[in-house]
Amino acid sequence: MTPNKEDYLKCIYEISTRTEKITNKEIAERMQVSPPAVTEMAKRMIEEELIQKDKKAGYLLTPLGQKMVARLYRKHRLIEVFLLEHLGYTSNQLHEEAEVLEHTVSDYFIDQLDHFLGSPKTCPHGGTIPPKDQLLEEQYQDTLEKVTSPGNYRLVRINDSFPLLQFLEHINLTLNDSFAVKQIDTFTQSILIQCKEKTITIPFAIANELYVVAIKDL
Ligand SMILES: [Zn+2]
Repeated sequence: MTPNKEDYLKCIYEISTRTEKITNKEIAERMQVSPPAVTEMAKRMIEEELIQKDKKAGYLLTPLGQKMVARLYRKHRLIEVFLLEHLGYTSNQLHEEAEVLEHTVSDYFIDQLDHFLGSPKTCPHGGTIPPKDQLLEEQYQDTLEKVTSPGNYRLVRINDSFPLLQFLEHINLTLNDSFAVKQIDTFTQSILIQCKEKTITIPFAIANELYVVAIKDL
């Protein structure tokens, strides 16, 4: 499937939450397309005032782009809640289906769905569902990678990529699990945690995809 404008918007948004400068190369890598393809799409998106190009920051979302991103996440995440709660999808199946549906359902459908579901605040991965016509502001923004001292934490949000979800399933770590950070090892670039009586090593690269809050007790 060729990625469309909406996929680009989401990709640029996601990069913007982690890096200072959004380059053509970075978008191409993430979208798995060629840099010239990105250049061409970016040109169209600049014309449509969805993004702008800044010498220092690279590509930036305009207010219109931000509004569209919020709408896309709202669709994606409400659909995920519906699939999980009402159609019996497993947490790993959600993303792909939502990825397709978010481009096809109408705003009316989404408003009705939101009402039907009782206006949930988060998706099954802990991502914030922005209310209608509001910008996306993630409730959970602190990653496990940023944790600097041992202590107790709860896993409250996961970036919903399929390989990541598979990895988490493999190590038996699920959303809302509490665990203890035992050791942060900058040499091996990993974090040692204890969860459900098991000790698990989590590489920094993965910890960067997991969002946590500090808690008092396990
Ligand atoms: Zn999600």
